[in-house]
Amino acid sequence: MPDLPFPQPMASGWAPAGAGAALEIDLDAIAANYRLLDARTGAATCAAVVKADAYGLGADRVAPVLEQAGARVFFVAHLEEGIRLRPHVSPAARIFVLHGPMPGTEALFTHHALLPVLNSMEQVARWRAHAAQAHKALPAALQVDTGMSRFGLSEGDVATLAQTPGLLDGIDTKLVMSHLACADTPENPANAMQRDRLRAMAARLPAAPWALSASSGIFLGPDYHFNLVRPGAALYGLAPNAQAPNPLRPTVRLRARIVQRRAIGAGDSVGYGLTWHATGPRRIATLGIGYADGFLRSGANGGGCAWLGDYRLPILGRISMDSTTVDVNDVPESVLDAATHVDMIGPRRSVDDVAHDAGTIGYEVLTALGSRFHRTYRQPVACDASPCQNKASV
Ligand SMILES: *Cc1c(COP(=O)(O)O)cnc(C)c1O
Repeated sequence: MPDLPFPQPMASGWAPAGAGAALEIDLDAIAANYRLLDARTGAATCAAVVKADAYGLGADRVAPVLEQAGARVFFVAHLEEGIRLRPHVSPAARIFVLHGPMPGTEALFTHHALLPVLNSMEQVARWRAHAAQAHKALPAALQVDTGMSRFGLSEGDVATLAQTPGLLDGIDTKLVMSHLACADTPENPANAMQRDRLRAMAARLPAAPWALSASSGIFLGPDYHFNLVRPGAALYGLAPNAQAPNPLRPTVRLRARIVQRRAIGAGDSVGYGLTWHATGPRRIATLGIGYADGFLRSGANGGGCAWLGDYRLPILGRISMDSTTVDVNDVPESVLDAATHVDMIGPRRSVDDVAHDAGTIGYEVLTALGSRFHRTYRQPVACDASPCQNKASV
């Protein structure tokens, strides 16, 4: 039997005919966001957080672009993420693993040239023992808990380390770090309290660069930059705080196919549970995107919508696993006839907008975006010398 042909890209080029939705990831915008954050943080080193597969956007594609833009230090959450990332950045790039060494994983850190963040006295002891076995000092970061009660050495732990000779033997401290709990609310007094605690705790530990801020902390000002900053969300275009205009470029566009259109009348209902009712004649369209794509079901609750050019298309009823129904009543028939797809995230609707309507944060929307989409990457423009082509690649 001959192979059946796989559907080819449509003339419009936004996605192959067989795909329900397409995610375009703008690597040029990610590089530009890195450069903006790097410039804002002056002499501090700007690291890049690429945990959770670079917030769902593909660490294998994103990390090399960040390195090209100047990033030399990367953070992931888990050891396995670090092992996967290692071949995609140069050997000189530093990769810190936020969750530190679990029992029995020490040798994997050294084998893959990954640096653990040591979060507890147990992890400090584990790394010290590993260094003793290796007969050499081994690099690591020390994390201190300045108020979030999540990761890091307590004030008591720091006192013990400062007063007891030998507990940090063989640990080459490359960074002393903590993490802010409330950086997206600049007026919160917890920010200054955590900053001052970091100063006091880090002063009792071996001399090393200090780090406190992630994306939002960078925008609290130079007082929060110390020697290194760790942005994640801002690299991917999320707003550092909800009150101020977002200075970062959006990095994703999400388009969904129009699969079917229909006209309904007064008394007709839409979707599971028949929760939306037409009060008069209405033209509607069904899109090839649903919650199994990571387009959160709660996105329909708070006034979610799609856009077709400048036409706003409210979501009607519940989001299904593979489809979403929208109101296209205001769109002229000629425009609809020519349209193959709509924007779910795009020029008129940001990731943060989607998150707001879904009752969550942009982080969750981004990291939920699934693998079923057809994905394309827009390559970075090499911005050093002559103007060059900005070409999209698959
Ligand atoms: C996730 C994380 C970051 C990055 O945070 P963003 O808010 O995405 O910039 C930085 N540091 C630590 C410890 C983290 O867990």
